[in-house]
Amino acid sequence: MPSFIYVAADSHFPIQNLPYGVFSRPDVHGPRIGVAIGNMALDLALIEEMGLLDLPELKQTFPFKSATLNAFMGLGQPAWRAVRKRIQDLLSNEGDAALREDLKLREAALIPQADVRMLLPMEVGDYTDFYASRQHATNVGTMFRGPENALMPNWLHMPVGYHGRASSVVVSGTDVVRPMGQTRPNDDEPPVFGPSRLLDFELELGAVVGKGNALGEPISIGNAHEHIFGFVLLNDWSARDIQKWEYVPLGPFLGKNFATSISPWIVPYDALAPFRVDGEPQSSDAGNPAPLPYLRQQEPRCLNLELDVLLETAQMREQGIGPHQISHSSARYLYWSPEQQLAHHTVNGCNMRPGDLLGSGTISGETPDSYGSMLELAWRGSKPLAMPSGEERKFLQDGDRLIMTGYAQGDGYRVGFGEVEGKVLPAKC
Ligand code: MN
Repeated sequence: MPSFIYVAADSHFPIQNLPYGVFSRPDVHGPRIGVAIGNMALDLALIEEMGLLDLPELKQTFPFKSATLNAFMGLGQPAWRAVRKRIQDLLSNEGDAALREDLKLREAALIPQADVRMLLPMEVGDYTDFYASRQHATNVGTMFRGPENALMPNWLHMPVGYHGRASSVVVSGTDVVRPMGQTRPNDDEPPVFGPSRLLDFELELGAVVGKGNALGEPISIGNAHEHIFGFVLLNDWSARDIQKWEYVPLGPFLGKNFATSISPWIVPYDALAPFRVDGEPQSSDAGNPAPLPYLRQQEPRCLNLELDVLLETAQMREQGIGPHQISHSSARYLYWSPEQQLAHHTVNGCNMRPGDLLGSGTISGETPDSYGSMLELAWRGSKPLAMPSGEERKFLQDGDRLIMTGYAQGDGYRVGFGEVEGKVLPAKC
């Protein structure tokens, strides 16, 4: 299914992907919805305006004449599939020639990604963060409670989560100001106020909810996939010192809600379907409790995504040293899937809405070089990371730029996310 648009073999955006985003283009006023193909962005608002997306599944709603993807996401899976198929047809070498043969339209509708500014692709009504990586939960539990009590008794029975903050979800490229807050560096002394000293990142996968559910009507595990529009990479910035002092008994609050960054292109659920793999068995044969029936999911329930984290300090930037890889992980390590998270989230009747965001929880693999946070990589500061500039890092410093990237490897092509990146700015004391 090759496209007439050039796509390099290591590009994240071949015709098999076609992720959705929202951007501003230099020559047009206002945000535009589009898809990424190779190094280009296809302006769907323009394609729709030209009558090339006249599909019965869209019911004359013109969802791309909008500043966000929420309306399109709310139309549900039949509309997403019809549009995806239609765009693939328009961009392929052998499909409908309406775009391919119209050079004037091609010039107007296809813009280099280098020339557009990516915006937040959806209005996030609610953001929920889970804790679905067994290795991460074990690592953090070991640090704070010892190896005997690392996993809490509920962990293997439900996807544990908490309600995050939607207003501070930002798109990749947004700088993050080091938060001020209350911490207690010494357990024998009163708390102090000041800039967080233990600023961290969390490598996560974000699932974007498409069609929602009515209040009081749970989404079943068998139907959950129809409610997930797609995925983004997510950096759940965390201030560990603020978090540690505040989190008992009601959980994370100001140590988390100052910023959450997401990658700008939403990779469709269907684009990742070929990369599903079985997860760690959830059965007594494997030494794990079988989940309650409402959480039992058919395999394959995991996504085989390669995930990388890179760090660039201000000094490295000045010296022209490129970003340095500090972690390589995989989304296949997640114990609880987004479908299970969605079924659990709604089992009490809680309603989801288009654009809601579910963070997977920090994705840590089994080996120390595959951990998904600074807290684990430098093991609470006891094993500082060596940077190529000669510097060390235990946590993030001002001027540090953190980059996450990820993709699934197909046969001769990649389905990827691009990246989510952000730079730490000094606290506003
Ligand atoms: Mn998190």
